[in-house]
Amino acid sequence: MQYRVNPKNGERISALGLGCMRFPGALGRPDQRQARDIISRAVERGINYLDTAYLYPGNEACVGAALEELGVRDRVLVATKLPHGSVRGAPDLDRILDEQLRRLRTDHVDYYLIHNVTSPGQWDRLRELGIEGWVARQRDAGRIRQVGFSYHGSAGDFPVVLDAYDWDFCQIQYNYVGESYQAGTAGLRAAAARGLAVFVMEPLLGGRLADRLPDRARRILDDASEPGLETPAAWGLSWVWDHPEVTMLLSGMAAPEQVDENAAIAERALPGSLTPAQHEVVARVVAEFERANRVRCTGCNYCMPCPQGINIPGSFSAYNASYAHGWFSGAWQYYAASAVRTSEPKLVSNCVRCGACARKCPQHIDIPARLADVGRRFQPGPVGWALKAWSRLR
Ligand code: SF4
Ligand code: SF4
Repeated sequence: MQYRVNPKNGERISALGLGCMRFPGALGRPDQRQARDIISRAVERGINYLDTAYLYPGNEACVGAALEELGVRDRVLVATKLPHGSVRGAPDLDRILDEQLRRLRTDHVDYYLIHNVTSPGQWDRLRELGIEGWVARQRDAGRIRQVGFSYHGSAGDFPVVLDAYDWDFCQIQYNYVGESYQAGTAGLRAAAARGLAVFVMEPLLGGRLADRLPDRARRILDDASEPGLETPAAWGLSWVWDHPEVTMLLSGMAAPEQVDENAAIAERALPGSLTPAQHEVVARVVAEFERANRVRCTGCNYCMPCPQGINIPGSFSAYNASYAHGWFSGAWQYYAASAVRTSEPKLVSNCVRCGACARKCPQHIDIPARLADVGRRFQPGPVGWALKAWSRLR
């Protein structure tokens, strides 16, 4: 395993971290046995950083149980996140952290993040509630070691958040199609220049830069394939690791074999290891990706459930697939995601534009408007009316 040094505290962190949000499971909850197998393989391969969050359903408890069963808590750094929207007063901070430590079966969190910061005002609100004093007390008590934030706001606000507190680290979304998106490359450099450890999430954009890459982009990578860069995932991860400012990247690995695959890539992908010709290949892939990328949904599920039962990420995935892989492929996906073969199809035309979903989207997608685009593509005029009438008759 390749390790990088946290510039803030000198800690050695595996360049590849395990993002626990995408553990396999059912109904949005992780499967304990499969999660344990993934964690076990990750530790075996030298991964020493695990990322979870209070808001991932059942996830902290699953990670805690696996670490206890495997007896490896002291071999890994555990990161989890504060759902700041649930904090109404100082007592909530204690209540939430107590619950997290109980779920994780540990007496401390190594890396504690303010979850999904999108504007400086969110930190200002927490400061007014006394979070700075609270953090100092938790550090003194040894319950929290390092404090940071995960970011999904604008590029302009990012330096303001960076300077609002003496952070130890930050976590940003970063990948080769997102150099100018959210914190972006400028934010990566700004955080590193301030001496912070920078952790990267969504290095493969929720799999869209791996197995769901548009066909034409995929062909470019296949033609340029060489040892160590045989798959789209290898290109995407290597591109992130090419940046010396990146301390660690999180990958949401869903099987032990995926851990093996990514760990092997991590061993080779050192800072500055991509050649100019390889960067040129990536630039061509970015151009193809942008042609097919109509909605920037990462499939994180933060917007779910929709009260009308609409499968929001499934609909966007199908919509993008219809541009990347052809209309029929996307339409098939859309009708499967909308359960049209069941007695209760949930078409995007069921949307009542309540807006509940859009408020929770870290990608700031205008979900109701974009679902209308999905409807126009897959349920044009008479098709939409016929489907609606048919679903009423069933
Ligand atoms: S705006 Fe539409 S898609 Fe979003 S939660 Fe409301 S009904 Fe569901
Ligand atoms: S629409 Fe937004 S919140 Fe919903 S899955 Fe996509 S990126 Fe996540």
